[in-house]
Amino acid sequence: MTAHGTAALALLVATALAASTAGAAQPRACPKGTKARQTNVLKGETLAAVADRIQAKVEALRRWNRLSSDAVRKGQNLRYCAPVFTPGSVGSCNGGNLRGGVNLDHDGDRKGVGFVLAPGRLNTFGTPATVRHIRQCTARYRSNQPKGPPVNIGDISSRDGGHVGNHASHQSGRDVDLGFITKPPQSKGYFDREATSTNLDVPRQWSLVQCLLDNRETKFIFMSWPVVNALKAFVVKRPALKSRYLKFFGGSVIQGDTEHLTHLHVRFRCPKGDKMCRD
Ligand SMILES: [Zn+2]
Repeated sequence: MTAHGTAALALLVATALAASTAGAAQPRACPKGTKARQTNVLKGETLAAVADRIQAKVEALRRWNRLSSDAVRKGQNLRYCAPVFTPGSVGSCNGGNLRGGVNLDHDGDRKGVGFVLAPGRLNTFGTPATVRHIRQCTARYRSNQPKGPPVNIGDISSRDGGHVGNHASHQSGRDVDLGFITKPPQSKGYFDREATSTNLDVPRQWSLVQCLLDNRETKFIFMSWPVVNALKAFVVKRPALKSRYLKFFGGSVIQGDTEHLTHLHVRFRCPKGDKMCRD
């Protein structure tokens, strides 16, 4: 090829590259307060289902992606403009969601110091504070009770919060279920044994609850009455514990109920400075 021909080819390639880069630069700038994101159509999803999942309007999805019809196929890449949120707990535990949640099982090994998660459990996202509180108390439990079974951790919230499973709460990254510590223990990661006045491993259970009570961010701990009564009896017998912890049994933090038979449910307060959070 002549020098002239090479130059001409180079120009052609450069022009083609510029054209393709220009084509990929869509969508046009997202409106103020929103950010360009993308998603792939999941198996069986319609355009309306995608819109629902990403909380956008069908018309907007059509416009952003220059779609001439609503037909989409699995794996199709769609661009959209999503509102920019400050990370945190949004709204209430019973009707909120979670932005920028942290995964307790960030490395996917289903365990941490003093705790285990069931293999299929996906709702392991909480506010950064919630995840920190859980890690702190399971680690303290482990150091105080080196021979105790790991704490079985149930649901926290889903990645983006909102309704999960058959919970009314657990929507905004501030609720967590922790399996009761029984003798013999429940299966690793599961809540398959009801705690009773005879099988509750009181000193070990107390060790975990004590750490939660020491945390001023703990708002409520829900548990069945046999567990409330066993822990209260344990505390009342020990003057040093009694003077410090008995007050929590009057319904201020510890809440007896007939619902939490296999696990305790902890709710943390709104993180400080989180303006979107509602206690
Ligand atoms: Zn719960």
